[in-house]
Amino acid sequence: MDTTKKDIRALSKEELRDFFVENGDKAFRGNQIYEWLWIKSAHTFNEMTNLSLTTRKMLEANFVINHVKVDKMQKSIDGTIKNAIKLHDDLIVESVLIPTKKRTTACVSSQVGCSLDCNFCATARLKRMRNLNADEIYDQVVEINKQSELYHNHKLSNIVFMGMGEPLLNYKNVLNAIDKITNDEGLGMSAKRITLSTVGIPKMIKKMANDEVKFNLAVSLHSAIDEIRSKLMPINDKNNLADLLASLQYWYQKTKRKITFEYVVFKGYNDTQNDINALVAYCKKVPSKVNLITYNNIGDEEFQSADGKIIQQYVKTLEANNIIAKVRKSRGDDIDAACGQLANKMD
Ligand code: SAH
Repeated sequence: MDTTKKDIRALSKEELRDFFVENGDKAFRGNQIYEWLWIKSAHTFNEMTNLSLTTRKMLEANFVINHVKVDKMQKSIDGTIKNAIKLHDDLIVESVLIPTKKRTTACVSSQVGCSLDCNFCATARLKRMRNLNADEIYDQVVEINKQSELYHNHKLSNIVFMGMGEPLLNYKNVLNAIDKITNDEGLGMSAKRITLSTVGIPKMIKKMANDEVKFNLAVSLHSAIDEIRSKLMPINDKNNLADLLASLQYWYQKTKRKITFEYVVFKGYNDTQNDINALVAYCKKVPSKVNLITYNNIGDEEFQSADGKIIQQYVKTLEANNIIAKVRKSRGDDIDAACGQLANKMD
């Protein structure tokens, strides 16, 4: 890799236009390049056939296009595809294509590794190496969209930021990527089909609401009792449930969009009626629905999925209180592609 040249996709459209003007060309040239880089996802300057050879050579001399590469691909018996995505500096992240009957969903990563220490999550065991750039997030979607077209004959329908990393700790790049994904000068997908999942950082949730983002918000709750949530997710020590709730109420007030709570029921942690009641009470304070996720084993004894019976009890009680609750089937767990199993294990 050439580290002296700048990644051209770090430049905004305006910056590209300025670059050409400064180099004695027309600003319009910047628009052309921008289209090649984003809508057409060009991998080389040579592909940009409506540019003169001189322009292409000049770009080549000044910039690189750091595209990601699908390094390995694994297919689950349920059709889920896990990709190991190699970045320009040889680090690896994982992105997953999850097909259902009518839809295909991309689960993308926002960081290499993760700095949070959720005790039940495999990604937490990898230390955070770095944030992904906007183009690296965008590229994951482009690659998964290709797989959706190839294997399912239609475009990608949804995107969830539920891969590796905490998107709200890489806010600027994640928003920039979503902007490109939703823009007509990018992939032109609807923001309504994008969900950002966070561990729940109140300050950042408020910021998102102020920034008037148009995508959906999911929060990994896992317990509505501070003491228990802190045991599962140490981030709760400094960002407790009351602060989280205040930020979610603010989000709803600004966006009028319901929050999805992700909730894994663990044996011995949050599997009593008391836990259920606490969740119901919490949900009643802000318009929300609950996705009950079955726990995917990550190879230690500490965390186990709770009994199916108690999960049904959660659903029953939530529904009796007019809160929508769904049990999410685990997908791709035979290839460690399910939630919390992404840990660069591709053998
Ligand atoms: N950092 C973000 C997104 C990544 S995790 C977040 O915390 O939301 C995506 C979802 O998978 C989260 O709800 C997380 O709590 C859940 N998860 C992590 N490990 C899991 C596991 N082993 N089984 C099931 N879900 C898990």
